[in-house]
Amino acid sequence: MIDVQDLVVSYGTATALDHLTLTVAKGEMVALLGPNGAGKSTLANTLAGLLEPASGTVSVGGRLALIPEGRQLFPDLSVADNLALGGWRSGLRDPSSVYDLLPRLAELSGRRAGVLSGGEQQMVAFGRALMSRPEALVVDELSLGLAPNVTADLAAHLAGLNRTQGLTVLLIEQNARLAFELCSRAYVLESGRLVTEGACAELADDPRVASAYLGGA
Ligand code: ATP
Repeated sequence: MIDVQDLVVSYGTATALDHLTLTVAKGEMVALLGPNGAGKSTLANTLAGLLEPASGTVSVGGRLALIPEGRQLFPDLSVADNLALGGWRSGLRDPSSVYDLLPRLAELSGRRAGVLSGGEQQMVAFGRALMSRPEALVVDELSLGLAPNVTADLAAHLAGLNRTQGLTVLLIEQNARLAFELCSRAYVLESGRLVTEGACAELADDPRVASAYLGGA
């Protein structure tokens, strides 16, 4: 579903992704881990078509939606209007399927997005992505700035969609524990390059990964 081959993306003379190869099969839920500045958001934005590769290829075999880092909502618009913008390309006007899945959004529908809590805003960003009826979802830092119980709630919704609807997910995270709980496989990116990849169960036992991402081996 998501196929990235030998991808190079640069900002001027600075190379943010350096020959990255990564795949996510249809129905898979795969994590991309890495510290600040590793190039994770650059990949997300390239997959979403917002950045052009300098070389290499990116192909996505279905409709893809991005939950961007920092949510990127329109703060002065209502929740309902933010959701409607997500349905602009798919033609989905009626948010009821999203409200069925995330009932809290129906309660919040008339509120301005900018006054909501971080967790509520992330839920709006999630709902907005679903309005585009995606077959694949790239989630850039689901857990950033959220309380653990709020993150767990959103993660459960994500896992449910993957299980019941076969939604393909690339989960970009700094929180390796969360990523390992949700995903079957993971890639680890540092300074634009893959340092390791594999089954989460094996990566969690890798001392390099454990010390860097799990707070000690
Ligand atoms: P974070 O979690 O902090 O967002 P990240 O892994 O998503 O980190 P990127 O945001 O993709 O990393 O950044 C990768 C590299 O590209 C970093 O060195 C960053 O400084 C640089 N970079 C990102 N955006 C730009 C930009 N618009 N112009 C120039 N350099 C940029």
